[in-house]
Amino acid sequence: MKKITIAKGDGIGPEIMDATLRIMKASGANIETEEIEVGEKVYLSGNTSGISAESWEVIRRNKVFLKAPITTPQGGGYKSLNVTTRKMLGLYANVRPCKSFYPFVQTKHSNMDIVIIRENEEDLYAGIEHQQTDEVVQCLKLISRPGCEKIIRYAFEYAKQYGRKKVTCFTKDNIMKQTDGLFHQVFDEIAKEYPQIENEHWIIDIGAAKMADTPEAFDVIVTLNLYGDVLSDVAAQIAGSVGLAGSSNIGEECSMFEAIHGSAPRRAGQNVANPSGLIQGAILLLNHIGENIPAEKIQNAWLSTIEEGIHTYDIFKEGISKRKVSTSEFADEVIARLGQTPKTLKEVKYDNKVLDLKSYKRKPQAIKELVGVDVFMHWPGLDPEELGNKVSLGQTDKLKLSMISNRGIKVFPGGMRETFCTDHWRCRFKTDEESVIDYKEILQIITNAHSLNLDVIKTENLYKFDGKLAFSLGQGQ
Ligand code: NAD
Repeated sequence: MKKITIAKGDGIGPEIMDATLRIMKASGANIETEEIEVGEKVYLSGNTSGISAESWEVIRRNKVFLKAPITTPQGGGYKSLNVTTRKMLGLYANVRPCKSFYPFVQTKHSNMDIVIIRENEEDLYAGIEHQQTDEVVQCLKLISRPGCEKIIRYAFEYAKQYGRKKVTCFTKDNIMKQTDGLFHQVFDEIAKEYPQIENEHWIIDIGAAKMADTPEAFDVIVTLNLYGDVLSDVAAQIAGSVGLAGSSNIGEECSMFEAIHGSAPRRAGQNVANPSGLIQGAILLLNHIGENIPAEKIQNAWLSTIEEGIHTYDIFKEGISKRKVSTSEFADEVIARLGQTPKTLKEVKYDNKVLDLKSYKRKPQAIKELVGVDVFMHWPGLDPEELGNKVSLGQTDKLKLSMISNRGIKVFPGGMRETFCTDHWRCRFKTDEESVIDYKEILQIITNAHSLNLDVIKTENLYKFDGKLAFSLGQGQ
């Protein structure tokens, strides 16, 4: 008997969890549950993370977690439990299958069947944000090679094990050449290990447009955290309803399964919510722990229920649907069909999939050479020439001011009058092409700037890695 942790959550959570657990039990799944309390009550009792230390222990002990949606109270100070859980437990892969059930659930895309695999720990979600000047705040986008390798390998392994034909990578590396560029580069490297699987890369903007218009052109999509967050909601919605999709969050040790929708507080306590999203989460969970037969039974019974037009209010449509049912009645109908297979929708067959996920191996360190520094300054003036002339006074023999940019656009030397400038300036000091400097040179630049009464807010070192410049140029440079 495999023990799993469950949390009934807030709003419609307890109703859809009860429905889901009844179905799981009736399917013969070899599981027992251990319940923890997370969410609104825990937040409001003064715990800003929404979960107690004892509950963490239960999750870590059982390793597999089925979570109903929770309400994050409005107002400052409350940390999203979802983001915390994903990061604390290292749940690096968010997997969201988005499939249409045409003609039984209305959709413009009758033939849609994609799986979005989203990096779950990095990117702008690191939440490293600072105000630097009166006018400028920043959020750091951190992308790591292990982060890219783990998620991209997961996507190809998933495609291989689940008989998928193609993996598509979405990035914006025409703009973010370092961060998104690394993701794309690692994608190309790992794709070579899977010659039997087609691979392609799209720029996210046109790729997202194509996906919303012609989702049947895609199979497995792998992308960075923020793009994946947006894209996966679009995909679930155009498949028919965000109320029908479940997702898994997979880590090396632990995993969490959920519906993708929220706690729908206005529907709470009325026994009307659609439990399908959490049922799909439970099916993903059962497959993950090797309980394929009950997973298959539930999915086929669920498909049969949907194609017989037995629908909750959110997907009920006159002319398509036959009976509008409550949350608990929907569960009863699925239970009554356990053992049946759908007649029109495609029957599913699941077997035990083991993804061969090699652990990350750090490469030998590159030769890293310091070739300059970007010094960011808070300066309330307006004329870049005036700042340029002042900053130039702080140059050293080895480090010369090569440019000043404002929000990434070069404004000195030779900027354009039309460029709008804020009070946040980046002054780039570089060596001539060949020479390498010691960090002491940078300390001298900062000391000089300070003596000139310039307000240094941060510095960013400029490096060459294995002889290649490893920083972006200013726009217009
Ligand atoms: P929501 O997903 O709860 O609701 C959006 C809309 O969809 C509402 O009209 C709702 O009635 C409907 N809906 C959602 N699930 C449904 C279901 N199963 N059956 C029928 N109708 C359903 O999104 P929201 O209103 O933006 O958020 C409400 C709360 O949920 C917020 O506190 C938010 O922080 C939280 N939330 C939690 C999670 C999670 O725990 N994974 C995810 C998203 C939002």
